Amino acid sequence: MRIRVDLKCEEIPRCWYNVLADLPFKLDPPLDPKTRKPMPPEALTAIFPPALVEQEISDKREIPIPEPVLKEYAVYRPTPLYRATYLEEYLQTPARIYYKYEGVSPTGSHKTNTALAQAYYNKICGTERLVTETGAGQWGSALCYAGAKFGLKVDVFMVRISYEQKPMRKYLMKLYGGDVVPSPSDRTSFGRSLLEKNGEMPGSLGIAISEAIETVLSDPKAKYSLGSVLNHVLLHQTVIGLEIKKQLKILGEEPDVILGCHGGGSNFGGTVLPFIPDKLSGKPIKIVACEPTACPSLTKGRYDYDYGDTAGMTPLLKMYTLGKDFIPPKIHAGGLRYHGAAPIVSKLLHEGLIEAIAFDQDEAFEAAKTFAKFEGIVPAPESSYAIAGAIREAKKAKEEKVEKVIVFNLSGHGLFDLSAYV
Ligand SMILES: *Cc1c(COP(=O)(O)O)cnc(C)c1O
Repeated sequence: MRIRVDLKCEEIPRCWYNVLADLPFKLDPPLDPKTRKPMPPEALTAIFPPALVEQEISDKREIPIPEPVLKEYAVYRPTPLYRATYLEEYLQTPARIYYKYEGVSPTGSHKTNTALAQAYYNKICGTERLVTETGAGQWGSALCYAGAKFGLKVDVFMVRISYEQKPMRKYLMKLYGGDVVPSPSDRTSFGRSLLEKNGEMPGSLGIAISEAIETVLSDPKAKYSLGSVLNHVLLHQTVIGLEIKKQLKILGEEPDVILGCHGGGSNFGGTVLPFIPDKLSGKPIKIVACEPTACPSLTKGRYDYDYGDTAGMTPLLKMYTLGKDFIPPKIHAGGLRYHGAAPIVSKLLHEGLIEAIAFDQDEAFEAAKTFAKFEGIVPAPESSYAIAGAIREAKKAKEEKVEKVIVFNLSGHGLFDLSAYV
């Protein structure tokens, strides 16, 4: 029988978990892009609401989730934890594989967990318009949904290549009332400068972020919203790992290996951060970030200060980066095509608390197809990197003849990405 753990609505976590309270080291501060001096947090309120800036630097361990956000979480949370028994049988592994499924959210990925929180905090401080970027469209659709829920207008700069190749997500954003333009666009001076050089430019996340920030700086009623990388985004995603902990406890299981795919680090961070205290107290948990070889920020990047965007408008963040001008090849996992990585994830990797591994697109797709056939869920192309990681671990357990508990996050479904699978 399929093993599945569902929590009750009342068991949705009441607080997000802030790992910064428990780390035995401090993060390096963001630097001002002009002076290269540490940036006072107030400076960030030009683009973010005060409550999110406070969360960005908070050292409080638990941050209460506001009631209106909890009410929206209850639309799709708690999300289920499945044991991948069909996959285990196919692999003939002695390992027990579990996956948390975030694809049950309204827009099909974990991104709604932070989109709802960000829309709420913007609404209560008087923001009228949210501006953002999106790659494959997962983040854009999550923010448009959240904007519709909390009464905010949402503008999305969508990486042009995805805008053209993945129209479904564009329709979804429009369904929720969002305004979507392909980036680079003629709406910003940075976009126009790029289009002059090359009218067909495929775009990148870094370019779209620059366009979104430029737009926000010219409209006092607008704020910027980022779907990954920053501390407050990872914070909101910890509902994933906190629920996994409760679900594993019900099963009487302790994880040996935890994996997530890694683009900017939000679903990975949200999954693993609640386990960091266990790791720090000596439990031998292997924590693995899975990324594409086509955009290998954690495995091949340098650990240094870099901009979050291509134009160099964001604060400088200390992170593993391939350089702000890196334009990754057009792999299907659009959400993993980011040059940098979350500062929290980067620091944990640098300090040896977590590991990172890169997979070729072919291996990820094979893993995704196997998973779809045996477990009955079509994974998002991004999530298939976590599946590839879990399958490698399960094969290793078979070779070593050891029972192991492997847990991974299935960050979204791939029903809008089917063209990637043919
Ligand atoms: C955006 C996205 C990712 C990558 O972003 P992270 O911030 O690294 O989580 C992974 N999976 C899905 C389904 C996504 O939409």
